[in-house]
Amino acid sequence: MIKYNTLLYYCYSTIANGEQFAADHLKFCKELGLTGRIIVADEGLNGTVSGTSAACQAYMDAVHADERFAHTDFKIDEVDSPSFVKMHVRYKTEIVHSGLRDPNIINPQKQTGKHLEPVDFMAMKDRDDVVILDVRSNYEHSLGKFKNAVTLDIENFRDFPSKINELAKYKDKKILTYCTGGIKCEKASALLLHEGFKDVYQLHGGIIKYGKEAGGKDFEGKCYVFDNRLSVDVNSVNPVVISTCYNCGTTTHKMINCANPECNEHFTQCDACGEKMEGCCSDACQAHPRKRVYDGTGYYVKVPQPVNKKAKSEVV
Ligand SMILES: [Zn+2]
Ligand SMILES: [Zn+2]
Repeated sequence: MIKYNTLLYYCYSTIANGEQFAADHLKFCKELGLTGRIIVADEGLNGTVSGTSAACQAYMDAVHADERFAHTDFKIDEVDSPSFVKMHVRYKTEIVHSGLRDPNIINPQKQTGKHLEPVDFMAMKDRDDVVILDVRSNYEHSLGKFKNAVTLDIENFRDFPSKINELAKYKDKKILTYCTGGIKCEKASALLLHEGFKDVYQLHGGIIKYGKEAGGKDFEGKCYVFDNRLSVDVNSVNPVVISTCYNCGTTTHKMINCANPECNEHFTQCDACGEKMEGCCSDACQAHPRKRVYDGTGYYVKVPQPVNKKAKSEVV
């Protein structure tokens, strides 16, 4: 049986001529037979790629062989099939969209929160002088978060800076930030330091690495991920379900995208409601003429592939 892996990683490192790098990198990934999504910016790399174990190993070796990326930390998952359909490498202004583009103010290569390895994060997180801060968005922390974590009402990470004022009451505490894989915390913790927070730490490698190295203890619910798995298990020590079906309120951690492409809302829905509502969040979406075919997963390829178009037109 062929073994597949899905890799999650980022690396803050200066890339000159990022646009050309992105084009070359795409070619390289395709040659390896990988699928996934990589963002290239002048400030570094951020990616999730999937493929055979051999292809993933070759990819990691190549990235590590480049001295700019020698310190990249890969989170490696075993998967039954590739987690993506296509391979994209895009050049953008930032590797994670924070709206904090001025590298003179926020530059994780110069100043960022102290990195805590998962076991150290676990040892510190319950102290009285500590606040655990989830820097992710609503659809992510509603599916799963650390017990007692402070969450922010944001739809996107670029709204994080506007919430800093709400956190002023924690200025005298030790702030432990966390996110999915660690990349957002590099900037979030840098911004907190810039705003006068004194003692700022970040969970190195994020929830994903914490699950692997610390058993995920006290992470409640599941972790939202940006590929066709939609969510992954984290906690093998004391797991609980915290999310509920948007439609009927029963506990579920099944996360889907609304089948109406013009809505595409991320939300939790139980299997029974999924079947009844055909993967839609509302009656209005269910009645929408462009509604996509719900196959029970709630995952839709963003750019329709020829094969999907055919399947769609047969149903319509
Ligand atoms: Zn339901
Ligand atoms: Zn909808």
